[in-house]
Amino acid sequence: MTALALPILTEPSESLSDLIPSRRPDRTQRQLFDSHGRTIRDLRISLTDRCNFRCVYCMDPDVRFAPNEHLLSQQEIIRIARIVTSLGVTKIRLTGGEPTLRPDLCEIITGIRTWSNVELAMITNGSTLTPASCQHWKAAGLNRITMSIDTLRQDRFARLTRSTTTPQQVLAGVHMCIDAGLTPVKLNAVLIRGFNDDEAVDLAEIARTFEIEVRFIEYMPLDSGHRWDTSKWVSAAETRAAIELQFPLISCDIDDESTTARTYRFADGAPGRIGFVAPVSTPFCGACSRLRLTADGKVRPCLFSTREWDIRSLLRDDRATDDDLAHFLMDVTWSKQAGHGIATPEFEQPARPMSAIGG
Ligand code: SAM
Ligand code: SF4
Repeated sequence: MTALALPILTEPSESLSDLIPSRRPDRTQRQLFDSHGRTIRDLRISLTDRCNFRCVYCMDPDVRFAPNEHLLSQQEIIRIARIVTSLGVTKIRLTGGEPTLRPDLCEIITGIRTWSNVELAMITNGSTLTPASCQHWKAAGLNRITMSIDTLRQDRFARLTRSTTTPQQVLAGVHMCIDAGLTPVKLNAVLIRGFNDDEAVDLAEIARTFEIEVRFIEYMPLDSGHRWDTSKWVSAAETRAAIELQFPLISCDIDDESTTARTYRFADGAPGRIGFVAPVSTPFCGACSRLRLTADGKVRPCLFSTREWDIRSLLRDDRATDDDLAHFLMDVTWSKQAGHGIATPEFEQPARPMSAIGG
């Protein structure tokens, strides 16, 4: 058994084999691949589980956050970024919670960029952006930003996000990102039946006016209240059909098999694109190249993993070398499940909501 710090048992029913991933049979190749033949190229790092919004499909108002001391420090995040880069990761996305709430965000970007030539992206709700912050992030080495907006109507926006931010503020943020060169900018939207599913065309029109990609993400069972059900869910096919009544679409070539979105351009030649991310109706698990690191230092092989692996204990053990951490990441990746199985009767919603996993 290793002399390094072992993960802490938090449940009486847990055993060490629940907490230490089984060893990958062959560790000679310094790459992250799983037992289903997939290679990991993309790491999503959640910088915080906190958020200034409480989107109805993500966080209940009384959601509880991890104590500050559980959150990975700037140095710990940068160390992981450096190690995964050496293991073949080429894309890192900073997420949350709301990543722009991290006071040391600029230092984290700078630190990752110092060690790594990855494509570095961030996803934000857009509420805190200023022209200066966008320019600082760009200068520090951030490549691009994705933002989220689910409705263009102020009253709905307030009910959906339970915040005082306006849709206009988020859209102003799109201009700030474009001006700062944080491009290509993408805008995510989640449609909920009976709430905002009548806005597909209006949201699609933003793609045309702002000359960006608007991505419709199917509502997933990852809300903190566990109230997701199929009656609130709108399929990508239905959304696409609604958009095509107004704006016929032409499918774009797939240039990256592991991409989550299927993209379309406008048949009338207007600028901008529409993307559909359909994990519920059309799972793309077979081509998944992603691994996730939560803000409190758990590695999750899948968004829907019911099992996650504690790398924070290792990071905080002075004896753990970069090689120990690399081997841990290789072993966790090896354990990646074949698929999320949302449509199967055995599907179990993860205890953590999207905001605590890092979307
Ligand atoms: N706070 C930032 C934001 O909202 O962009 C970043 C984190 S958020 C968890 C990342 C993305 O996850 C957002 O685009 C959000 O709409 C999406 N999301 C959150 N909960 C979801 C759910 N239950 N189903 C589908 N997408 C969800
Ligand atoms: Fe916050 Fe993003 Fe979740 Fe909305 S979707 S509550 S902005 S983390």
